[in-house]
Amino acid sequence: YTRIVLNERPEGDIQPSTFRQERVAFDLAPHAGEVLVKVDWLSLDPAMRGWLRDVRSYIPPVKIGAVMRAGGLATVVRAGQGSTLVPGDVVSCSPGWTEYAVLKAKEVEKINVPPGAQVLDFLGPLGMTGLTAYFGLLDVGKVKAGETLVVSGAAGAVGSVVCQIGKKLGAKVVAIAGTDEKCRWLETDLNVDKAINYKSPTFHAEFKKAVGYFDVFFDNVGGDMLNFALTRMNKNARVVLCGAIADYNSTQPKGLVSYMNLISQRAKIEGFIVFDYAARYPEALKEMASWIADGSFQRKFTVVEGLQKAPEALPMLFNGGNTGKLVVHVSGR
Ligand code: NDP
Repeated sequence: YTRIVLNERPEGDIQPSTFRQERVAFDLAPHAGEVLVKVDWLSLDPAMRGWLRDVRSYIPPVKIGAVMRAGGLATVVRAGQGSTLVPGDVVSCSPGWTEYAVLKAKEVEKINVPPGAQVLDFLGPLGMTGLTAYFGLLDVGKVKAGETLVVSGAAGAVGSVVCQIGKKLGAKVVAIAGTDEKCRWLETDLNVDKAINYKSPTFHAEFKKAVGYFDVFFDNVGGDMLNFALTRMNKNARVVLCGAIADYNSTQPKGLVSYMNLISQRAKIEGFIVFDYAARYPEALKEMASWIADGSFQRKFTVVEGLQKAPEALPMLFNGGNTGKLVVHVSGR
């Protein structure tokens, strides 16, 4: 079977030599407490760039020569003794960039697809990116009806869910994305109040006109975007640091220059990691499943066909090649 391993740590952008494909003999068999799975879908996430870096973070780096870490959806082929899973069960798991994997049964979760949803939604609103949007906006951003919410990286997996939850909660939502087509999708399908292309030469003026001053900024981007936003805060604004994709490939990340406005505006800036909310995932999933069931929640996926395409698809996250959630279709449903 095929798997893809980390070949060398990239300096800056991911290179063709960063990963290496391997064909290995099929010798996988689950022991007690394990399951053998066939991978159907893989999630591509900006965080993967961080996992390639040999630094202290919330999770250890991927080792050179190891299968690239990735979350995904898979079908159980065989279950070892003591597992309640049976062949054919569809599970959410972290198999990595491989066609087959043996995983600890307690680290895979059987999926029950709620009404109106599809399996793939477990990499979207019902998966890690949806949970990130939910807890980041509600718990960290504490957005309220009538407030102005600005979302960067708005047409991506997390951002598109943040925009929709913001509208549901009655906020005025201004979305920021990198192409006019993405902005059209945000305004037409996701019903944001205004979408602005940050690559436009008039971006700052358009932002000032549409936003004025904001109450909540959900930031997926960091860098210049964050520094500019910090000059446009209402009193008691909340700045949610979800991600800083503008800096993930840089060897010298941009610093925070406008932070002193936090003092004058009595504002809060706060980072968070979705895993810390694990005990509360069920409440978020229940609410998001209800929005999917009543047809009021849009989902978009950018699908890349074939495991071997994963290394060249990952950089799409850094050049805006995806709209909605970027996934790799490995096999099956
Ligand atoms: P997305 O689907 O949003 O993909 C990334 C998008 O970022 C691209 O499509 C691109 O869109 C935009 N982008 C890339 N480079 C830049 C840049 N230099 N300036 C502005 N925009 C840029 O990814 P996710 O939804 O999976 O992740 C979004 C963010 O959330 C990431 O920063 C990620 O690290 C973070 N995250 C944080 C978690 C947490 O627990 N805190 C958990 C999960 C994700 P465009 O065309 O608009 O440029």
